[in-house]
Amino acid sequence: MLGKGLLKGMRVTFKTFFHKKETLQYPEEKLTMPARFRGGELDLNTEKCIACGLCKMACPNHVIEITTAMDDAKKRHLKSYVYHSGLCLYCNFCVEACPTKAISWDKNYENSRYFRDELDVDCLAIAKQKLTKTISADDKASGEKDNTLKGGILDE
Ligand code: SF4
Ligand code: SF4
Repeated sequence: MLGKGLLKGMRVTFKTFFHKKETLQYPEEKLTMPARFRGGELDLNTEKCIACGLCKMACPNHVIEITTAMDDAKKRHLKSYVYHSGLCLYCNFCVEACPTKAISWDKNYENSRYFRDELDVDCLAIAKQKLTKTISADDKASGEKDNTLKGGILDE
């Protein structure tokens, strides 16, 4: 029949036109990465970290640098936690070695940097900022002010 091919083609066109769009308008829209995605930077949870150093020992490429200190009660605390993301193999050994699940991937896939030293991430400073924000938000919500910093961080 004459025009049958045209109708078939139009059917596909209309079906696609009203179908849910698969294309994301990057960078305005971002992909949500799956749970098992290894990438971005290490996200440190200071409330869970016991400063044992197992993540550092598990790393085959010496990507993680940790310094620790003891408090008066002989409890170990983190003094610094630096992750050199430019050297990372994303093997996940560090995450698997952590006994308290204190580190995870932030799943940010936009990690290009202009300068090499910007690839060194001060995870402890980032965690402290996040914690301070959370505490301020909690204070606002409860209307009280608590000046004690939570988590396993030894203050200067
Ligand atoms: S993913 Fe592998 S290479 Fe990267 S910091 Fe962890 S252990 Fe080291
Ligand atoms: S992140 Fe985990 S493995 Fe690394 S020092 Fe903290 S508790 Fe230990």
